Amino acid sequence: MPDYEAIIGLETHIQLNTTTKIFCTCKADSWNDPPNTNICPVCTGLPGVLPVLNEAVVDKAALLAVAMQAEVQPVSYFDRKNYFYPDLPKGYQISQYDMPLARGGFLDLPMPDGYTRRISIHKLHVEEDAGKTVNEGGHRLIDFNRCGVPLVEMVTGPDLRSPDEAAQYLIRLRQLLRWVNISEADMEKGHLRADANVSIRPEGADYFNPKTEIKNVNSVVAIRDAVQAEIDRQIRQVEAGGKIEAWTLDWDDNAGVLRKMRSKETEADYRYFREPDLLPIRIDNVFLETILSELPELPLDRRSRFVEQYELPVYDADILTGDRALSDYFETAVASYGGDSKRVSNWVMNDVMRLINERGILANQLRLTPQYLAEIIKQVDANTINTSTGKSLVEKVEDSGRAPAEIVQAEGLGVVSDEDAIREIIIEVIEDNPDQVATYKSGKTTIIGWFVGQVMKKSRGKADPQMARSILDELLSE
Ligand SMILES: [Zn+2]
Repeated sequence: MPDYEAIIGLETHIQLNTTTKIFCTCKADSWNDPPNTNICPVCTGLPGVLPVLNEAVVDKAALLAVAMQAEVQPVSYFDRKNYFYPDLPKGYQISQYDMPLARGGFLDLPMPDGYTRRISIHKLHVEEDAGKTVNEGGHRLIDFNRCGVPLVEMVTGPDLRSPDEAAQYLIRLRQLLRWVNISEADMEKGHLRADANVSIRPEGADYFNPKTEIKNVNSVVAIRDAVQAEIDRQIRQVEAGGKIEAWTLDWDDNAGVLRKMRSKETEADYRYFREPDLLPIRIDNVFLETILSELPELPLDRRSRFVEQYELPVYDADILTGDRALSDYFETAVASYGGDSKRVSNWVMNDVMRLINERGILANQLRLTPQYLAEIIKQVDANTINTSTGKSLVEKVEDSGRAPAEIVQAEGLGVVSDEDAIREIIIEVIEDNPDQVATYKSGKTTIIGWFVGQVMKKSRGKADPQMARSILDELLSE
């Protein structure tokens, strides 16, 4: 039995986060709105209306193209893609066909086991979304809110080799889309949708076998599971002497199974022709330079820089560049702290990220500013407060918005390193616990740890534990 390798390509649709739709002034995002409330004669395709291109769509799509290292075309055209479907009221979709907004480009995927896979992009084009049909109580209902929502379509080359790589592509693409702020990229809300093309061939072969297309894979977990299921199915089929036919499959996420939707037709006849109601998109150098000036340092570049500049492990750099707000937070905190970056990284990855996850906010929405975090770490370094007080301060600052020093002062959280005060507490502990004292004197000196614990408890965590231990040593040995 030969070994097989999988050949996977992904077709993604990305909903841009513009305020209004692509060809009218209706609100673009209807996630929280009742059906058919963000519609007008243009997006519902009434006779006689004219589409007007939303400039923000071109800005955002071109920004994505540049971020994907694609070549933005000086001239591109809109075309009508003709087909009939109840949720497409015009009878055609305005899309781009042979002259798309951008060509080429790639996305690098650093894989967890160390290698990097480069995924090429054929082209990037903009188009309008169609509506939604919902089956309810024996009726087929249509919601036109989504008609005219701006989409970017990007198709990868057949470059992905495993379900994990396919999942990683979606993870990295989602990170990039949010990073350059062109889409919320929330897969649950359909802001980022993927179809997967899958085929197999004997390992090392250089030809392509017929592929199947999996529709409706709408989460990172689903893409991994669906692609794996399809690879397994194709191998079983071939091993049994069967042939792979170019089916279109539907991934049922709840049941975790693939269902055959239809035998794939030959390329449907969409009778594309130029959209006569819209001018071509012309992009000159001035426009491109403006876009380039808006392009931030990209996630993978920042990840490498964090490893180099701050001498962080790749693991840390990867987490800290998970989103742009977090990576900004880290850099500001390091600058404000002025010491060991790895120490700041630990605090951010453990304590700050716990806060962010618990509260469902972004780093730039924290009341615990990076400066406050740096201040807390400095106080722990200086032993003005101990580590556990520092950890609890993270939450207290976030809840109150007050400066760490102010809270330490107000609540008397500073470390007690006054020898007399600690000695007093220890004398009390010794007096209250004659049995444990006897145990210590009988030779079981390891019980000193228990005594330190009692002192910490009595001082409400503020005693300097090292000082407590040495005074205990002295008094118990008397
Ligand atoms: Zn409209």
